[in-house]
Amino acid sequence: MLDFEQIREQFPLLKRQVNGKPLVYFDNAATAQKPQIVLDVIEKYYQTYNANIHRGVHRLSQEATDAYEVSRRKIQKHFNAKDAKEIIFTRGTTESINLVANGFAQLLDKGDEVIISELEHHSNIVPWQLACEQSGAILRVIPINDKGEIVLEAFYQILSNKTKVVAVSHVSNTLGTINPIKHIIEKAHQVGAAVLIDGAQATAHLKVDVQELDCDFYCTSAHKMFGPTGIGMLYGKEAWLRKLPPYQGGGEMIKEVTFTKTTYADIPFKFEAGTPNIVGGIAFGTAIDFINEIGLQAIASYENELLAYATDKLREIPNLSIIGTAADKAAVVSFVIANIHPFDVGSIIDKLGVAVRTGHHCTQPIMQHFKIPGTIRASFAFYNTQKEIDMFIESLKKSVQMLA
Ligand SMILES: *Cc1c(COP(=O)(O)O)cnc(C)c1O
Repeated sequence: MLDFEQIREQFPLLKRQVNGKPLVYFDNAATAQKPQIVLDVIEKYYQTYNANIHRGVHRLSQEATDAYEVSRRKIQKHFNAKDAKEIIFTRGTTESINLVANGFAQLLDKGDEVIISELEHHSNIVPWQLACEQSGAILRVIPINDKGEIVLEAFYQILSNKTKVVAVSHVSNTLGTINPIKHIIEKAHQVGAAVLIDGAQATAHLKVDVQELDCDFYCTSAHKMFGPTGIGMLYGKEAWLRKLPPYQGGGEMIKEVTFTKTTYADIPFKFEAGTPNIVGGIAFGTAIDFINEIGLQAIASYENELLAYATDKLREIPNLSIIGTAADKAAVVSFVIANIHPFDVGSIIDKLGVAVRTGHHCTQPIMQHFKIPGTIRASFAFYNTQKEIDMFIESLKKSVQMLA
C-alpha cells in the first residue's frame, strides 16, 4: 500500500491556503499541480545549461540537446512507441490534433468522411471542422447515450469505406467516461481509416501502450501529467508521419533550403519548426519518471476509491444529479443541483478553499445533449484524499443552504 500522504508532501502548492482555508484542489482535469522534482529540473536547466538545441557544437548546447532527446526516449518508452522518432514534441494536445488535422486537410478528398464523437473536447472537434471545410470532407458524429457512453451501434452504422479518419477521446474530461478505444480502433482499421486518440485526460490515470492499442496517432499534454504547460506530445506511426505534410515551416524542420525547392528534415524534426519548449520537454520526462515511480496501476486503484467515495457522498445531497454515469469511468465527477446555477456553487465553495471547475468544460455538445448550461466538475489526482472530499461535501452543503 502506497503512502499517498507522503507523495502529497512533494507538491509545494498543495500546502497553501485559499481565503484563509486549506486548499482543496479538485480541478486536476484542467491542469495538475507539479511535484518539487519537476520544479527543480526547470530551475536547474536555466541555472546551469540553458542553450539552444540541435545546432550548437558547444558544450551547453550538447547538454541541452542530450537532455531533450533523453526525455523523448523516456516518453517513447512510457507509451511503448516502436521508435523515438514517432514522438513529436508539441505545445500540447490541442496542437497535436491541429498538426494531424491540418495534414489531413491536404490528404482528404471531397466526399471523404471524418468521424468524431459527441463527447469530444472542442480541441478534437474544431480542427476537424476546419479540415473538412478545407477539403470538402464530411464530419460525422457518433452520439452518446444518457449515461455518457459512446453508442457503438451508431458508430458501426456511420463507419464505411468513405471513412478516412476516426478521432475520439480516450477519457472524457467532462464526464469521466473511459471509451472502448481498442475496439473502436479495430473497427476503424477494418475500413482502412486512420485513428487519432485524444489522450489528454487519460495519461495521468491509465497506462497507455500505443502498439497494443494499434492507434495511428495519440495525443497528450504534459501539464495534465504533473509536468509544465506549453509542452505535449504527438505519437504517430512512422508511416503516417512520413505521409503527412509538415505543419509549420521554419528553422530545424528542413534539410536544405533554396528559393526554388526546400527539402524537409526527417521525422520527428519535420514537425518541430523553430526553437521548441526545451525545458518543458526535459521536465515532461521528469514528470513521467515521477508517475512511474508511483505506478499507474496503484494510481488508478487509489483514484477509483476516491471516485467511488465522492460519488456516494454526492448522492446523499438532495436535488443533486450526477451527469455521466458510464460503467467505466476515470477520476472525474460532474453534477448539477436543481435550480442552482453551477457558477454560483463554484464561487461559494471557492470562498471555502475548494477549487472545482464550473461551466461547459470545452464540451458544449455534451451540455446540449443533457440540456444543461454547465456542470460542477470535481476531478481528482493521486494527491487528493478522502478528507478533502469530506471538506468539499461540507462546502457544497453550505452553498446549497445559502442558495436555496
Ligand atoms: C485538456 C484537454 C484537451 C486540450 O489540452 P490542451 O493541453 O489544452 O491542449 C483536449 N482534450 C481533452 C479531453 C482534454 O481534457
